[in-house]
Amino acid sequence: MACLETRRKGRWSGFYLPWGRNRAAANENSSIPRKERGEGDLRFLRFQEKGLPSWGIVEEDLVERISWKDREGGLFKRAGEYYPIADLKLLPPCNPSKIIGIGLNYRSHAEELHLPLPEAPILFMKPSTAVIGPREAIVLPPQSRRVDYEAELGVVIGTATHRVAVEEARKHIWGYTCANDVTARDLQPKDGQWTLSKGFDSFAPLGPWIETEVQDPAALQVQGLLNGQVVQQGSIDDLVFSIEELIAYISACMTLLPGDVIFTGTPAGIGPLREGDQFTVRIGEIGELTNRVALLP
Ligand code: MG
Repeated sequence: MACLETRRKGRWSGFYLPWGRNRAAANENSSIPRKERGEGDLRFLRFQEKGLPSWGIVEEDLVERISWKDREGGLFKRAGEYYPIADLKLLPPCNPSKIIGIGLNYRSHAEELHLPLPEAPILFMKPSTAVIGPREAIVLPPQSRRVDYEAELGVVIGTATHRVAVEEARKHIWGYTCANDVTARDLQPKDGQWTLSKGFDSFAPLGPWIETEVQDPAALQVQGLLNGQVVQQGSIDDLVFSIEELIAYISACMTLLPGDVIFTGTPAGIGPLREGDQFTVRIGEIGELTNRVALLP
């Protein structure tokens, strides 16, 4: 399974071995600079090039274009072409067939709302059409008078996942990204399934990339910043249901496909967005996702 990486243009060069297979061997064979944040660690993103989506890997403030030969197997070709990340029109880092959201999954958020902790994960879905990328606008729909931010950790699935045990769940994770579970709060009580209140176009900002290696996901800190001010702060170890428990629970019902995303819940501090605001989801080790807020044109 191990594939050698080379910087020579045009060679199949993937060494990225998801789901923990042969990771140590891959790292030994790789000539990619070992970054401080973790050996063998890669950040994948998508960007627009000549009107079409392209894939890239992030190297500090540059992006190298890649093409996939076998995405689930982790085999890709480096193009040897680098772009300054600041010059790129970034796209959402994946194209999920579905987004599964989790309600009330932080103890701090349940306490804030004076609600008991759920006995089982509360699932809802956001449509693929809600997804937007970094720097794109969250559009306020005219039928809502209060649209809220919800800074969240997004877990991106790597392989088709059906009825996996908690102990096996981590192998199915491709990586992690920043997510904003934008919600029309005033519509939510009328909407028993939350589909309307959480399903508007632009209500699922994702990005900026998929971070494939996080040493200890439970130690991640999730922050939400409204116009630069920290308004949300939470730790993944405050989750009521862990990432692995969520994958096992969801996959016992539906098959999760590569690129599907689980929104793991939001910590305390939710609040409204207004036209002209900028909201940033910041997660240590992963990065920052910023979106502006606009009215429907
Ligand atoms: Mg949420």
